[in-house]
Amino acid sequence: MALTCPRDGAQLQAGEDHAVPYQRCPTCKGGWFDLHEFEELEATAASGDALAGTIEYAERESTLKCPSCGKPMAAFDFRGENLELDACDDEHGFWIDDGGAERVRALMRDRMAGMKRAARAEHSWNAERERGFQRTLIERLRNIISGK
Ligand SMILES: [Zn+2]
Ligand SMILES: [Zn+2]
Repeated sequence: MALTCPRDGAQLQAGEDHAVPYQRCPTCKGGWFDLHEFEELEATAASGDALAGTIEYAERESTLKCPSCGKPMAAFDFRGENLELDACDDEHGFWIDDGGAERVRALMRDRMAGMKRAARAEHSWNAERERGFQRTLIERLRNIISGK
């Protein structure tokens, strides 16, 4: 059974976004990604820890119905960012409006870069702390040697 677009009822067609298969609406250019396809979409722009964590923030009622089961979906802020997507509570998939997939990728790239920056900052802080520790150790040894 072919799925229909939750926005305009057009029949969804097989599409591809950066080699990720999904169901595309020929009219509004929105897309339906099942759970696995959505994971793949995120993975086209990020990896590792950047893929962990909550995806659906600030869930609220959506006017769109799930193309798969027909139940009203939940709208949410993608990873707490200013990008509204819709998802079926029964985990049938995610609806992404035209241009949304590109924004998902951009936000995932930012998230990845932010994590790398944080990791670098932590690394240099640890190195700093180790140097500090070595200094106090050397000072203590000096004090012992000089009899203080
Ligand atoms: Zn449509
Ligand atoms: Zn559903």
